[in-house]
Amino acid sequence: MRINVSQQLKASVGSIRSYELSEIIDIGGSDSLVQGEVKLMRTNRGILAKGRLYTGVEVTCSRCLNLFSCPLALDIEEEYFPVIDAVTGALLSLPEEPGCFIIDEHHILDLTEAICQYALLAIPMKPLCREDCAGLCPKCGYNLNQGPCGCLPQQVDPRWSKLKRLASDVLINEREGTE
Ligand SMILES: [Zn+2]
Ligand SMILES: [Zn+2]
Repeated sequence: MRINVSQQLKASVGSIRSYELSEIIDIGGSDSLVQGEVKLMRTNRGILAKGRLYTGVEVTCSRCLNLFSCPLALDIEEEYFPVIDAVTGALLSLPEEPGCFIIDEHHILDLTEAICQYALLAIPMKPLCREDCAGLCPKCGYNLNQGPCGCLPQQVDPRWSKLKRLASDVLINEREGTE
């Protein structure tokens, strides 16, 4: 996601250029296709990158533990500061903001780091492969998205059914407790 902005740094404040992005980048160890449009606007201090990007990051479902691609929409908005003046080549002092993004001495604005940061923040704390993921059987660990596991027999002796219900309530409570 490297864009050469040497021409735009010489343009007047407020000038805008649009870029269609489609690139695979490494987000938290997972190769992810990132697509969307980014607008770069010349500011008085540097260049403001703004746009909505779409990607999918491979994560583990918190209920069934399957890996799946979690779709993410990233609303990027970051200002980038040049380390040298594009016209004179003079060194510029950077703002004293921790972790501010820079445009390097070759006038390259690299969006990769910002995209990674936004994506990692956008991943849900407890990802679900789908809204109604059935999870794993608390007894045998079978993935209940693939059907019933057979742990609970269909025919229950009526004398046991009350106890059985009690037991499954406990299991459900335990399962909800761990979520
Ligand atoms: Zn799941
Ligand atoms: Zn089971």
